[in-house]
Amino acid sequence: MSDSDVDLFVIGGGSGGVRAARVAAQHGARVMLAEEYRVGGTCVIRGCVPKKLLVYASRFRAEFEDAAGYGWTLSHSSFDWPTLIANKDREIARLEAAYTATLQKAGVAIVKSRAVLADPHTVQLADGKKVRAAHILIATGGAPSYGDPIPGREHAISSNEAFHLPALPQHVVVQGGGYIAVEFAGIFAGLGAQVTLVYRGENILRGFDDDVRQHLRMDMEKHGVRVLTGCKVAAIEQAGSHFSAHLSSGNRLSADRVMFATGRRPNIADMGLEAAGVTIGKNGGVAVDEYSRSSVPNVYAVGDVTNRVNLTPVAIREGAAFADTVFGGKPTAVDHTNVPTAVFSDPEIGVVGLTEAQARARLAQTDIYKAMFKPLKATLSGRDTTVLLKLVVDGSSDRVVGCHIVGEGAAEMAQLAAIAVQMGATKADFDATMALHPTTAEELVTMRQKSASYARAAAE
Ligand SMILES: Cc1cc2nc3c(=O)[nH]c(=O)nc-3n(C[C@H](O)[C@H](O)[C@H](O)COP(=O)(O)OP(=O)(O)OC[C@H]3O[C@@H](n4cnc5c(N)ncnc54)[C@H](O)[C@@H]3O)c2cc1C
Repeated sequence: MSDSDVDLFVIGGGSGGVRAARVAAQHGARVMLAEEYRVGGTCVIRGCVPKKLLVYASRFRAEFEDAAGYGWTLSHSSFDWPTLIANKDREIARLEAAYTATLQKAGVAIVKSRAVLADPHTVQLADGKKVRAAHILIATGGAPSYGDPIPGREHAISSNEAFHLPALPQHVVVQGGGYIAVEFAGIFAGLGAQVTLVYRGENILRGFDDDVRQHLRMDMEKHGVRVLTGCKVAAIEQAGSHFSAHLSSGNRLSADRVMFATGRRPNIADMGLEAAGVTIGKNGGVAVDEYSRSSVPNVYAVGDVTNRVNLTPVAIREGAAFADTVFGGKPTAVDHTNVPTAVFSDPEIGVVGLTEAQARARLAQTDIYKAMFKPLKATLSGRDTTVLLKLVVDGSSDRVVGCHIVGEGAAEMAQLAAIAVQMGATKADFDATMALHPTTAEELVTMRQKSASYARAAAE
């Protein structure tokens, strides 16, 4: 350790890297962090935060429409995309400065440069300078992946560019079926664009509970988003300022923007990892153990670059656990079960725990409770929408092992339900909890009838 310039070199100033660097420095380590783009990483600069701001913007349209049923007359409303983007950029710059200040206050040296491994104890910066480190943390995150090459692929944007478009497109084709695809479909549609979502699979949001997938699709279509499944964009052609997306089904869609949200890949390319002996796992990310240690004993990796659960709070938890393990004398493994997840689509989704299909595959007996109804707010507004709440219960132990919600406030509800699920609450505990009326969430503690199928609930 004595021949090292620093105790820890962190590559990547995103959610995982920033937290790891700060906590390690607070444990007394000499820490240097390299960031090649902007401190804050994907979440702050071009992920969760700017996305949620755009989601908020997109929801005003429905609020204005709903207000009429409550007696309001709004004389005129109009939307200005450049104002939204400028205000969003100002907030992101403020957050970037706050992250930088927090690191500096903790004593972390920040280097604005790309960094790669020269060997297991040496990091090389873009200007050729080398830094010797006792420990190295790879926290380089992920980047959009565009799938198989197709003619005209260069005309498609990813979420990175979507945050900086000069104008709101009027016709948008979004390819992808994951959370980023459905969120951007909702953003563009809410702001006034005609949106077609194209997904090669049989239904959107693979990996989510089937009822949730079906419910979201139904509501998205009700709200005007065209959803085409079982096909993909096979070619993109430019015609002046417009594009033609040729689909594998033979259809052709005209759009002023084509966005690909077809997954993300870990940032491992040209990092010197393999030469340093760092093994890449089958999932395409840096292979690590439960303490985020790679195949090289002094090299660790956290966050999206490990491709475990690619969410900000997980990256943050892994970063802190790494620092506590290596510099705090407190070995800490991260539990990746019961991670709550939200999709800020229209309508919103909040989930925690097992899907019905996962529970049926793992448990001897699975009980399902669900409610589907028109929310109170939609009665006077007349909005054509329904809420879905679903509990997945282990029939043998009575434990609630999954909670799935679609509707306004779903993400906030799921965060609180996650505490109960994480604590091992039973269905009897839910039933013993007094309802809070009138809310949507009260249905979580008042469902008494086991449910058979989605089709039946939908018909009721
Ligand atoms: C559009 C979008 C929306 C999202 N929404 C949500 C959400 O609502 N909720 C949620 O929990 N998660 C969301 N995520 C995921 C979340 O952003 C990531 O899980 C999280 O940022 C991962 O943190 P990280 O530290 O692993 O990597 P990142 O935050 O990606 O940080 C990695 C950093 O490393 C830098 N870097 C890469 N290579 C090098 C190098 N060689 N040298 C120096 N620097 C380097 C990058 O510039 C980057 O700043 C979203 C992601 C996207 C793209």
